[in-house]
Formats: sequence, C-alpha cells, structure tokens
Amino acid sequence: MTASPASRPGHVAVVGAGMPGLATAWFLQERGVRVTVLERERVAAGSSWGNAGWLSPALTVPLPEPAVLRYGLRAALDPASPLYIPPRADLRLLRFLLGFARHCTARRWRVAMSAYAPVNRRALEAFDALADGGVAEPVREAEPFLACHVSTADQKALLEELRHVEAAGQEVEYEPLTGAEARELEPALSEAVVAAVRIRGQRFINPGRYLRALAEAVRDRGGDLREGVSVREVRDEGMRVAVEAASGEALRFDAVVLANGAWLNRLARRFGVRTIVQAGRGYSFSVPVEQMPSGPVYFPAQRVACTPLGDRLRVAGMMEFRAPEEPLDPRRIAAIVAAVRPLLRGAAFDDRADEWVGSRPCTPDGLPLIGPTASPRVFVAGGHGMWGIALGPLTGELLAEAIATGRTPAELTPFHPLR
Ligand SMILES: Cc1cc2nc3c(=O)[nH]c(=O)nc-3n(C[C@H](O)[C@H](O)[C@H](O)COP(=O)(O)OP(=O)(O)OC[C@H]3O[C@@H](n4cnc5c(N)ncnc54)[C@H](O)[C@@H]3O)c2cc1C
Repeated sequence: MTASPASRPGHVAVVGAGMPGLATAWFLQERGVRVTVLERERVAAGSSWGNAGWLSPALTVPLPEPAVLRYGLRAALDPASPLYIPPRADLRLLRFLLGFARHCTARRWRVAMSAYAPVNRRALEAFDALADGGVAEPVREAEPFLACHVSTADQKALLEELRHVEAAGQEVEYEPLTGAEARELEPALSEAVVAAVRIRGQRFINPGRYLRALAEAVRDRGGDLREGVSVREVRDEGMRVAVEAASGEALRFDAVVLANGAWLNRLARRFGVRTIVQAGRGYSFSVPVEQMPSGPVYFPAQRVACTPLGDRLRVAGMMEFRAPEEPLDPRRIAAIVAAVRPLLRGAAFDDRADEWVGSRPCTPDGLPLIGPTASPRVFVAGGHGMWGIALGPLTGELLAEAIATGRTPAELTPFHPLR
C-alpha cells in the first residue's frame, strides 16, 4: 500500500458528491489540503439521498452470505420479491452475480466481517468529528432501534447473525422482545409483529439534509464545490492528474479521489480497478403516520427499513440489480407497500410522496473499495453497497490520512481497490 505521492498533495479533486466523496473532501481539509469537488448533478444526487439514513454498526455486515444466496435463487425473478434481477442479464451483470454467489459462504462472510468489525467500531466517532468540526445537521440516537418479525424463526435468524457479528470482535448490545413489548415502545407496530430485537447504540440521520450540511461545511472551509460538472476522463500525466469534463474543460490537480458511486468503474478501470461495482437499486418513499415511531424500524424478512424523518416516515427497501440509469419501476414501490402495509398501523400508504430509486454501489465480495490505485495520484472511495452512509465519514477520515501522509491505515488493507 505504498502507491501514494511522496509528499502531501496541495490540491485534490473529488469526483462525486455523495457521502464518501464529501466526507473525504472534509477530512482532507482537516489536513490542510485544498479540495475541489466535481459533481455531475448536485449534492446527494445519487444513492446518498433517499436511503434510510441508518448509522447502525450492528447491522453493517457484508451483503453476500449463504442465506442471501438461498433466498436469491428463489426470489430473484419475482418482481414482487425484495430482490430483483432482470431475466435478460448482460455479461457484466452475470460476472457480478457469479462473483457474488462465490462469496455467499459462511467462511467468506466471516473473513469479510473481520474486515468490517474494526471500521464499524470507529464509524460513529467519525460523525462526532464532523459535528465537532461544525457540520450542523443533527445525528440522532436511535432510541429505540427495533428489528421486527412476523415469526420467532425470523427473530432467531437475526439473533444468530448478531452473535456472528460479536464473534468477529464487534460489541453489540441487544435484547429480544415479544411483539407486545415492541408495541409498547412503538405503538405503530401492528399485531402481525410477534417478536422483535431491540438493538442499542445505533443512530440515524436525515441523509439529504446531512449531505447538504456537509457540503456547506466543505464550502465554508474554502472548498470549491462545482455541481453540474460531469467528469468524462481522468488521466495521470506524471506530475499531475488531468480531469476532463464532458464539456471539454480540462482541470489539473495533484491527486484525484474517485467517489462516483455506481458509476465508479467507468473512471477507475484504467487505474487497475477490476472489481465490478454494480448498481443494487433500492427504492424509498415517505408516508404520513398517525403515530410516528421514535426511532428506526426494521423488518428484516421483508427487507424494509423505516426511518422517522420530520413529520413523515421514510420507507425504503428492494435490491434490484439493474443499470443505474433505468427509470423507477412502480412495481417495486407496490411490492414494498404490500410487504409493509400489514405490519404498521395508521400509515397512509396511499398518500405517498418522494418516490425515489437510487443505486447502491455493490461489489461481489461485499467490501468497499477505499485506497490507492495503480496510479500514485488516483484514489478510490466507493463500493460501500448497503452502508455508504454509515461508513462514509470514516472512509473519508482514513482515506484523507492515506493521501496526506502516504501511509494507508491498517483498517483499509482489506478494502484495497486493486484486490
Ligand atoms: C434504499 C436504500 C437504503 C439505504 N439505506 C442505507 C442506510 O440506512 N445506511 C447506510 O449506511 N447506507 C444506506 N444505503 C446505501 C448508501 O445510500 C450508499 O452506500 C451510499 O449513498 C453510496 O454513496 P456514494 O457516494 O458512493 O454513491 P452516490 O451517493 O450514488 O454518489 C455518487 C455521486 O457521483 C456522481 N457522479 C457519478 N458519475 C460522475 C461523473 N462522471 N462525474 C461527476 N460526478 C459523477 C453522482 O451524480 C452521485 O452524486 C441505502 C441505499 C439505498 C438505495
């Protein structure tokens, strides 16, 4: 992990204004580096907007696991299931799926989990650093954080997963609850919920507002944040890196961080990054509810995440392996509604707003790509899949350290972009 410039770069470009990109810009500024953020559309234009906003280290685990494979084989072609793969899969998607399937073993999950545990332990501290440094948007304690089940078998499965997380060396505080105990904490839960798990020590944010606050902080500290600049190509010219915009404008920097989400391969491939980053598209919408839950509510079997955001409840779910440019498919929204309607009382599912689709940047091994590339001037911050909001700030902190000092922190070793 020595592929970094000999001395601290003076001016670094970050491509992509999602959570990992903006956090990297902010932490580079902490180290006295001048930053320019180049964003094709606007801040949080990608998956960093309509996600569930959970900062939940207890659940921040690798996506490929044996249960996902078993479940996926059954569910993949059903438009109403929480996982959808189009029947006419292209070659790139097939390669991704084969790689993903290879990683769905208990042994590989444990190896990947041992990479997650050290970053999960520090993930929330990075949010504290941002707050101490003036990022004004609140981070809320998830009190309570409830995972809710329609069967005790589902509860057992989650308890077992949490024990595996603990076995990887990560502390998790949790307790099983009955359905009635869960309803006492969150009266919006229906009688269909027969068991739950309360997980302590988790937090959540309103992701869109948080990203705006982070972008503002980067600007306030002298960063140049240019929205509407689509980067077409990045070239290492020896002493500097040329960044060419679609408009033809060419800009030069001492180093570049590629943080362009599900589109990462397009810019990173020429720097030796071979891992496929596939869009795992998720959907969300918001609804008014009679009794707003106090904290996040998770339905693991239905793979639906609910988050109280102001006066509406955000409902998010689905994993759809399709190109990020495809339009929103209303059947997926209908599937989320059908899955969660029986589980919540007093939620006006027909009064939906903010219907949204966004692309999680997923890797076949379930690990993000963070660190140097084959060019000493080009770095990557992406591929976080389900967890780029929770892990974005720490990603920024660790990567900024690598860029500014030339020494890559040990936590990043398993996430090497050239693995
Ligand atoms: C339904 C759903 C729920 C989720 N819930 C959670 C959660 O609770 N907690 C959690 O931690 N994570 C969650 N995630 C995952 C999280 O949203 C992603 O991991 C994270 O947002 C990825 O951030 P990113 O910056 O890599 O990608 P993005 O947010 O997609 O950002 C990439 C940016 O790059 C820009 N870009 C692309 N190409 C170019 C280019 N050529 N030039 C310039 N700019 C470019 C895009 O416009 C975009 O703004 C969820 C995701 C979904 C879909």
